Amino acid sequence: MSALIETSHLTKIYGSGETAVRALDDVSVTVQPGEFVAIMGPSGCGKSTLLNLLGALDLPTAGEVRIAGENLARLKDIDRFRARTVGFIFQLHNLIPTLTAAENVEVPMYGQGSDGRERKQRAAHLLHLVGLGERLQATPGQLSGGQRQRVAVARALANSPAILLADEPTGSLDSQSGEEILALLDELNREQGVTIVVVTHDRRVAQSTRRILRMRDGRIVDDHLLSDPYEEDLRTLAASRLGQALMGHNELHADYLNEAEKTVLVQVLDRIHKP
Ligand code: ADP
Repeated sequence: MSALIETSHLTKIYGSGETAVRALDDVSVTVQPGEFVAIMGPSGCGKSTLLNLLGALDLPTAGEVRIAGENLARLKDIDRFRARTVGFIFQLHNLIPTLTAAENVEVPMYGQGSDGRERKQRAAHLLHLVGLGERLQATPGQLSGGQRQRVAVARALANSPAILLADEPTGSLDSQSGEEILALLDELNREQGVTIVVVTHDRRVAQSTRRILRMRDGRIVDDHLLSDPYEEDLRTLAASRLGQALMGHNELHADYLNEAEKTVLVQVLDRIHKP
């Protein structure tokens, strides 16, 4: 099977001279069609930078990105390619507040060759798909946070992209709305075959995917298929500062513990101590 997404030696440096930041450092990774991949890692490790380069929202300093075999740097009409191939979902939904849900979903369809009637039909179809078939005429202000994010998912699907790129899609949602968005992404992946790459620091999100890439300092330091949640807890622990401390790679100080690490530790110890 040929890769849908392929980066080779991808490097991104922001700024120059003494203030230069190497946000991505020689990243080579491939994603096959139909995969559901999470990118995890501490804040500032380059997750969003990688996602933006995969979606041609920014240009690399060195290296290349190929989507379905096409080198993005060589494309003549990058906007058209992006509109047709990639759908984006961000932490903040970025809907236009004065437009209805249906009109927001129609926005990316302009200039893609469909007429007004087709656009309306497709927007209604997509909003049905995300469970908002009854709220086509609602403006973002009349919808809950979870519903707004559903509209954003429908908008991302407007041009039937092969790839969905999501940056902390549950980051601004309460846990139930977050679960619903996750279930929706999972369904889109399984039933429609959409390839999804999601940046997240949320274990629940990561565990609903099938593969996790862990980044640190602009590099991918771990890339594995998800087998079982217990193993994943151990990997999460091992990658954390607390895990590093427990394994003797780091001095153990109480201030290494944050809430997320405590939760993981309690869960892991609980599993270990069960007969
Ligand atoms: P993450 O998504 O993992 O939090 P980012 O990809 O946003 O990390 O950032 C990686 C590094 O690049 C960070 O050090 C960040 O401060 C820096 N960075 C990101 N965007 C810019 C930018 N536009 N200009 C300068 N530095 C940036």
